[in-house]
Amino acid sequence: MKKYVVRCLGCSSECDQHAITCPSDPHFLRAEYSAIRLTPRDLPGMWKFLDWLPTNDIIPALNGRSVTYRSEGFASEVGIKHLFVSFNGYWPDKNALFHTCSFKELEAAPTVERLIEKGKEDILVVASAGNTGRAFAHACSVTRRPLALVVPATAMNKIWLPGEGSRHETICTIAVDGDYTDAIVLAEQLACLEGFVPEGGARNIARRDGMGTVMLEAALTIGRIPDRYVQAVGSATGAIAAWEASMRLIRDGRFGSAMPVLDLAQNLPCAPILAALKDAVIDPACPKGMYDEVLFNRRPPITQKGGVIDALKSTHGSVQGITNDEAERARRLFERAEGVDVMPAAAIAVAALVKSAESGSVGPEDVVLLNITGGGERLLRAERGVTQLHFDLKVKKAGADVKALASDVQRELRRCAA
Ligand SMILES: *Cc1c(COP(=O)(O)O)cnc(C)c1O
Repeated sequence: MKKYVVRCLGCSSECDQHAITCPSDPHFLRAEYSAIRLTPRDLPGMWKFLDWLPTNDIIPALNGRSVTYRSEGFASEVGIKHLFVSFNGYWPDKNALFHTCSFKELEAAPTVERLIEKGKEDILVVASAGNTGRAFAHACSVTRRPLALVVPATAMNKIWLPGEGSRHETICTIAVDGDYTDAIVLAEQLACLEGFVPEGGARNIARRDGMGTVMLEAALTIGRIPDRYVQAVGSATGAIAAWEASMRLIRDGRFGSAMPVLDLAQNLPCAPILAALKDAVIDPACPKGMYDEVLFNRRPPITQKGGVIDALKSTHGSVQGITNDEAERARRLFERAEGVDVMPAAAIAVAALVKSAESGSVGPEDVVLLNITGGGERLLRAERGVTQLHFDLKVKKAGADVKALASDVQRELRRCAA
């Protein structure tokens, strides 16, 4: 029996195992695993969930995994009795050892492993406003795979590798004079060309099932599926993944039969998912002034089968808007109460939970899972140091000659490999 099949949620047809899209419709693909029960393996990091990851093998050096712990300090501050934190960052005291400090590592590791299994040496193309780029840069540095990383010029400072003097010959960084969406558009054009391969975004089953391990880890630690799942979203990949993982856990039968309510959050006024749900327009000044630009994705998967609306409906979930002030207050409260630094994006989720607790939408007995999607950067920098990357190529957002860019990227990578 095959470990899994990939099926289109639109037409139900079985697709190629490495497909990102269905050839006949715009809906999401999903992996259907033949293992119905979750059996954690004795493998490093997230690989312990190999049965429900779309890879055959593992990359041992990519050994980060999410850690779930019961909150005491912050829980009592917000008055939630059963509050669990999924910490996705660097915090050795809690055994949290993400090398690049965010849960994007959960997406990068299985995606890169699948490329290795596919067997072609195509250049992987990734667009990023920071955390995704770091996670993929690290994964490609460790595995010596070629990577073209397209980053808004203003986010270049977020592209670093853990440790001093880390190797980056297989990484070509392209700074775009524009925002995250401009980087995404350019990356899509580049990834279409011969010799390049797209990472696939929220459509990529490896990204989603990698992120789904947050829910798996939490269910194992808590002993059941939580009643509520709180996350700050940009593409909403993590939220869709939490929903899909919950489906699998429900089918397993040992973790409860109810979906967790998705309590999602975006940063006001630059909240494309909220805007799409309300049919509102986004302020053209966005993402300027955002608390964290990693949450600004103009084209999240809203209406596709398997996308945001499906996930919210199926879980009776909702999306809250959070202002910068609310995020800042929540970040201070959380950091003081829990004793670790969190990324600004994660503070958006913390603020959403504070508001949900205040409004009474969290019941007194509810088991809540708060996804701290990134943190511990201050600690990692102090303990391990980092290698800052600088751009190899620079392009203007409008009218970039993508073919010329492609050959520049290939030349850069050849030069560095030589
Ligand atoms: C990417 C990211 C998010 C948003 O995650 P999605 O599930 O892709 O919407 C939240 N927090 C941090 C720290 C991130 O890097």
